[in-house]
Amino acid sequence: MAEKKKMAPRDNGSPDYKKFLHPMMAKNYGKWKYHENIRSGVNMYVAESGDRLYVVRAGSTRTMSVDTVRKVCDIADKYCQGHLRFTSRSNLEFLVTKKEEIEPLIKEVKDKLGFHIGGTGHSISNILHTQGWLHCNLPGTDAAGAVKAMMDVLYEDFINERLPQRVKISTSCCQINCGGQADIAINLQHHHPPKINHDNMKICEHPKVVAICPVAAIRPAKKDGKDTLEVVEEKCMYCGACHGQCPSMEIRDANTDTLAIWVGGKSSNTRGGPSFMKLATYGLPNNPPRWPEVSDAVKKILNAYKEGAKEEERIGEWIERIGWKRFFEVTGFKFTKYHIDTYRYARTTFNTSTQVRL
Ligand code: SF4
Ligand code: SF4
Repeated sequence: MAEKKKMAPRDNGSPDYKKFLHPMMAKNYGKWKYHENIRSGVNMYVAESGDRLYVVRAGSTRTMSVDTVRKVCDIADKYCQGHLRFTSRSNLEFLVTKKEEIEPLIKEVKDKLGFHIGGTGHSISNILHTQGWLHCNLPGTDAAGAVKAMMDVLYEDFINERLPQRVKISTSCCQINCGGQADIAINLQHHHPPKINHDNMKICEHPKVVAICPVAAIRPAKKDGKDTLEVVEEKCMYCGACHGQCPSMEIRDANTDTLAIWVGGKSSNTRGGPSFMKLATYGLPNNPPRWPEVSDAVKKILNAYKEGAKEEERIGEWIERIGWKRFFEVTGFKFTKYHIDTYRYARTTFNTSTQVRL
């Protein structure tokens, strides 16, 4: 009989999360009675069996070196039976079974990692940024740098629970916005269609880039007798997806790219269900290394939200209650024709769920 060839395990798709649960979570799976917040950054989960699991949340740097990940794992080995988890906003969560170990754990997280404890309840969760220049070929700005600058400014709202509800903020380095929906989202915007370098254009079979355009704005063309491409400019929405597929189509432009802020997005099903973000302000300069104009605009939104929202209202719910007219009044942002969605070329099925990302 032929020897059975050993195959490497498949590594696509999510692994079965149940294999990785903390032993106390596995033991009490589906049998949790309630949970409560015992201090900013620490939640306690109580099971029907009487077991108590304490979850200590720290804001990670999102992009981490191998050395830092090893230090994180050493702390999890020491206090959490080798288990920890990352939330969707890159908060680190350490799972502790002994209440007396919470303070020593927090001290080690601060001393050895330099991370701060917070992000639970009615606070700003760790700010999310997209993969950016580490893995993507489209970034028009340094989303990671903008997040660091903003976290420095909003730090007190991360370590204290003093907002009407939780606030999730994300930064995306292009309008494809792989940061997803957020209460406040900062996105880089391009302001013209891609510029085609016809001399560099090596036409591939289809060409593939025609298919990647979500609004079918790219079509094959001839220039000086050579095969190339052209963009139907009135259809193009400046998303930049084509540049990732075809390096001869450059859309990034240091002279014209700016940042925009969108508000009111939410992916969860709580209360009113998921909602899309809407444009609040645009044309903010892409101004590294601190992006002060972006932090100022975010602070304006947060201050107005703190003053005007009812307890438990998320940013989108607050705006819907007071009305968009009032939102522009209290934030001081100018309402313009660009706030009205008149774009006619999007396919009706295109990205119409908050759960779908391009
Ligand atoms: S797709 Fe856009 S938002 Fe996502 S990492 Fe790439 S440039 Fe950034
Ligand atoms: S920028 Fe987006 S919409 Fe414009 S041609 Fe490229 S893929 Fe199409």
